Amino acid sequence: MKRSTGQDREKTRHWRPATQAVRGGTARSEWGETSEAIFLTSGYAYDCAADAAARFAGDQQGMTYSRLQNPTVEMLEQRIALMEGAEACRCQASGMAAMTAALLCQLEAGDHIVAGRAAFGSCRWLTDTLLPKFGIETTTVDARDPDLWKSAIRPETKLFFFETPANPTMDVVDLKAVCEIAKERDILTVVDNAFATSALQRPLEFGADIVAYSATKMMDGQGRVLAGAVCGSEDFIENTLLAFTRNTGPTLSAFNAWVVLKGLETLDLRIRRQSENALEVGRFLESRVPRINHPGLPSHPQHNLAMSQMDAAGPIFSFYLDGGRSQAHGLLDALELVDISNNIGDSRSLMTHPASTTHSGLSEEVRAEMGIEEGMLRINVGLEDPQDLIDDLDGALKAVGL
Ligand SMILES: *Cc1c(COP(=O)(O)O)cnc(C)c1O
Repeated sequence: MKRSTGQDREKTRHWRPATQAVRGGTARSEWGETSEAIFLTSGYAYDCAADAAARFAGDQQGMTYSRLQNPTVEMLEQRIALMEGAEACRCQASGMAAMTAALLCQLEAGDHIVAGRAAFGSCRWLTDTLLPKFGIETTTVDARDPDLWKSAIRPETKLFFFETPANPTMDVVDLKAVCEIAKERDILTVVDNAFATSALQRPLEFGADIVAYSATKMMDGQGRVLAGAVCGSEDFIENTLLAFTRNTGPTLSAFNAWVVLKGLETLDLRIRRQSENALEVGRFLESRVPRINHPGLPSHPQHNLAMSQMDAAGPIFSFYLDGGRSQAHGLLDALELVDISNNIGDSRSLMTHPASTTHSGLSEEVRAEMGIEEGMLRINVGLEDPQDLIDDLDGALKAVGL
C-alpha cells in the first residue's frame, strides 16, 4: 500500500532528532494549519470506481480504511521513524499491542527466541505464557551478560528480545555486543526502548533491527493516552508487520496519535530535565536507603556502559528498603506530593511497589530471579522542582523510620 501524505522526506531527512521531534512527518492540508490536523475518519471516498480498484490494487496513492492508514497516524509514524533513524514505523493502540505484533508477525511454531529476564510484566507474560501456546519457545537470560545470549542460541533461534534499561531493576544490556552476537547468526534483535526513547538512545545505531515502543510513556509524556510503535526496515514494516496488524487490527486512534504528536514536540526538553531531576533525587536517596538501581549514578555496576549508549539515564529508577512490603507500602502511604501510581514517563512524579502492582502477575520465583524484592520501590521523576520531591521523600522516609 502506497503512502499518500507527507513531506518530501528526502529533503528533511537530514534534520537532527530534536528538529524531527517538532516537525518530522508533518503533512499540511489545504488550510495550511500549523498544528497537525486530527483526521477522525474511518473510511475514505473515491472519485470513481476505477480509483477505488486502483487504490486497492496498490497502483494509486491514497488511503482506503483507517485500520490500514490514517493521515494523523501516518504523520506520527513518519515522525517516530525520522527521530529513530529508521526506514519505517507503524503505530499500534498500546505498547503491548506493539510488542505482541512485533513478535507474532514474524514467529511461527517451532521457532525459539531468547529474551532478557528483567522485563515489563506483560512482556514476560507474552514470552512465558502466550508464545508457548503457539509452539514458540523462549529462553530467558540475565541480559547483562552477552555470553549468556550467545550460549542460549539454538539452530531454530529466530530473535532476541530485550529492554534496556529494563523495568524495574534497571539492568543495562550491552546493545553493541548483543546485536553483534545476533547478527553473526542471522538472528533479529527486537529492542523495547520505552525507558529511553530515541531522544536518549537509538538502538539501530548499535545494530538492532527492530525498535518497539510503548509511546504511552515518555512520548506522550503527560499521562494522557495509550499508544505503541514498531520501527524497522521498510521491508520488515511494510511486508511483515503490516500484514499482521492490518488484518488483526491493533490500530492507534487518530486522536491518540495527535496527542502523541504534541507530546513528541517537547520530548527532548522533558526527558533531559526529568533525567537531571532523577539524578538529583537519586543522589539524595542513595544517602538514605540501603540500595539503589540508578544507571546514571556511578554506584550502578553498569554505569559506564549505560552512559556509553545513552545520552542521559532517564527519569526512572528503583531502590530497596530492608523492611519488606510493609515498609515499602508505608513509605508510599506517607508521600504527600509524589503520587502512588504504576505509570511511568509522566511529567508528574509517580512511585509504585512493583511486587504488588506491575509485576504481581508473575510467580514469586520469577520475581526473585528478576531481582524484584518485597522492599523494592520504583520511581518516575517528573518535572516538579526536585527540592520539593526530595522534601517529600525525606518526610516519607522519616515516617517509616529511615
Ligand atoms: C509500559 C511498558 C510497556 C507496555 O506499554 P503499554 O502502552 O502500557 O501497553 C512495554 N514495555 C515497557 C518497557 C513499558 O514500560
